Amino acid sequence: MANILDMPVAVVTGGARGIGLAIGRWFLAHGHRIVLLDIDAQTLAKTGSELVDPQRVLPIVCDVRDPAQVDAAIEQVADVFGRIDALVNNAGVAVFKPIAEVSYDEFRNVMATNLDGAFLCTQACAKLMRRNENGGSVVNVASISGLRASTLRIAYGTSKAALIALTKQQAVELGNEGIRVNAIAPGPVETEMAKLVHSVAIRSDYYDAIPLNRYGTTEEMAEAVGFLCSPAASFVNGQVLAVDGGFDAAGVGLPTLRRQAQPDQQ
Ligand code: NAD
Repeated sequence: MANILDMPVAVVTGGARGIGLAIGRWFLAHGHRIVLLDIDAQTLAKTGSELVDPQRVLPIVCDVRDPAQVDAAIEQVADVFGRIDALVNNAGVAVFKPIAEVSYDEFRNVMATNLDGAFLCTQACAKLMRRNENGGSVVNVASISGLRASTLRIAYGTSKAALIALTKQQAVELGNEGIRVNAIAPGPVETEMAKLVHSVAIRSDYYDAIPLNRYGTTEEMAEAVGFLCSPAASFVNGQVLAVDGGFDAAGVGLPTLRRQAQPDQQ
């Protein structure tokens, strides 16, 4: 087995559960040490204690909206693990409401978490990545909602579109220093967040509209992130990979035409 001190280090924000936890597990399975940052201390502690090989796992309670907490967390990573090779900006929150009902505080909170958090964490982690011979890789977890507008997503969709713009800005500048920055744009994935904002009717609409006729899994998101962080993607920089069962390619489409295209309708 490889010496733990030689293992690369991946930082995953929002790593206590859901997509972030699956990403953390991917990195563990692929020979990394991992740092899970999360605002939810209770879930983080439970998750940290359940993961095998505690020597390779560093859970840190951190609010990615707060510059001082982010700096302190990354300093702790530098002290404990000494390096950072990959960063996944996955922490996110969603508010799905009509424009007239979204308060300014709700709007600011979504932007602060989904956008400011990725700015702050990347800035802090890039300081350590620059010291690596092989640079580093950042993946921002955006959303299909950042690729096109849809109803009730004034805050969430705007934050994810901005995150995609941030990804390209970061890729252009940090690429010069050997740090690649890409994004994934997940379609709907079965997590606590989805349970919160997807009613039974919405769920059935998604099944209908997505060419693969289902939600994605957290593991499928992790595989895409893992690819983007791996040497297999060493020349991929500034890209957005939709991991969405074909949802972006199809658009929402016309229900009547979709029904006509079903094999049993022909
Ligand atoms: P989730 O709610 O299950 O997990 C999000 C995690 O982020 C939680 O552990 C939460 O505590 C943490 N978090 C929230 N605010 C934070 C903060 N300020 N600082 C640190 N941690 C914070 O959600 P998920 O479905 O796993 O989503 C993960 C990412 O994937 C999000 O960015 C989300 O927007 C994106 N996404 C999810 C879906 C989906 O359908 N689930 C679709 C597209 C994109």
